[in-house]
Amino acid sequence: MCGECHRMFALREKTDMKAKAITHVLSVLRLPMDKSLFQDFEHLVVEVDDVEDENLIQHFASTNAFVEKAMASDGAVFIHCAMGKSRSATVLAAYLMKSRQLDPKEAVQRIKQIRPFVEPNPGFMEQLELYHQVKYTTDLDDHPSYKQWLYKRELAESKAAKMAPSNVYFRDAEKNVAVLAQVKEGETPEQVGLTELRCKTCRRTLANSRFLTPHIPKPAQPPAPQTAVPTPCSHHFLEPLSWMRPELEQQKLEGKLDCPKCKAKVGSYAWQGMKCSCGEWVVPGISIARGKVDEIRVKL
Ligand SMILES: [Zn+2]
Ligand SMILES: [Zn+2]
Repeated sequence: MCGECHRMFALREKTDMKAKAITHVLSVLRLPMDKSLFQDFEHLVVEVDDVEDENLIQHFASTNAFVEKAMASDGAVFIHCAMGKSRSATVLAAYLMKSRQLDPKEAVQRIKQIRPFVEPNPGFMEQLELYHQVKYTTDLDDHPSYKQWLYKRELAESKAAKMAPSNVYFRDAEKNVAVLAQVKEGETPEQVGLTELRCKTCRRTLANSRFLTPHIPKPAQPPAPQTAVPTPCSHHFLEPLSWMRPELEQQKLEGKLDCPKCKAKVGSYAWQGMKCSCGEWVVPGISIARGKVDEIRVKL
């Protein structure tokens, strides 16, 4: 059990707060609060609900700075939400992860030793994982992993609302080579091999295989005879790429994609999804017609 957690967690009574020498209070909830209750303390309020899709990670830099300041002044912090189960535990876990280099599971486990029923909701657990992945950066907004996470959230929301996403993430615009390469551990870029898709008309490179979103072709119904040569899918599906920006940022639900150089029609997109020639749905559907491009193997 860690003494520091004790100093920071789950005190309910005000008298108890005095007895435990609480100096700082961190409230993680969206409720009208009687601020006068907290006038004797340094007080930080983070207004979030205990729902999976709340963006809590965006507050970790300020909640951690708040706790760090309290610890540095030899104070004690009372972190609370409504139930003391999900939100406050998540914020405390984020602090423990950063201060002790723990992974999310270890951090939550430490809190459970004191308060067994704590349980960050699955969305918050995912955000703790992300926080671990971005190495507790205080520059979250600029981190590619965070941008990609935001984009995925946006996609899910826009799909539910049947609308185009208002913020599209163009991974190929990142300058960070590691982000672009998506090279797995123990693999060199050479081993990965790279295929470029070039416009048949003007040879402009439209994409490379790093940005393909593969789908598994639907088996034919009824199954094709063994001897039949499987027809390749008629489309390549892609992540959003920078050259598509003028089109994709118009926030239309669907549209056409023209080659940025020669303006030949090369593909189309539909945020709600698109049916490939194999019958499989791809969501979102951002596609280049196979017949409009040449596939070239390139060396890195
Ligand atoms: Zn072209
Ligand atoms: Zn297909």
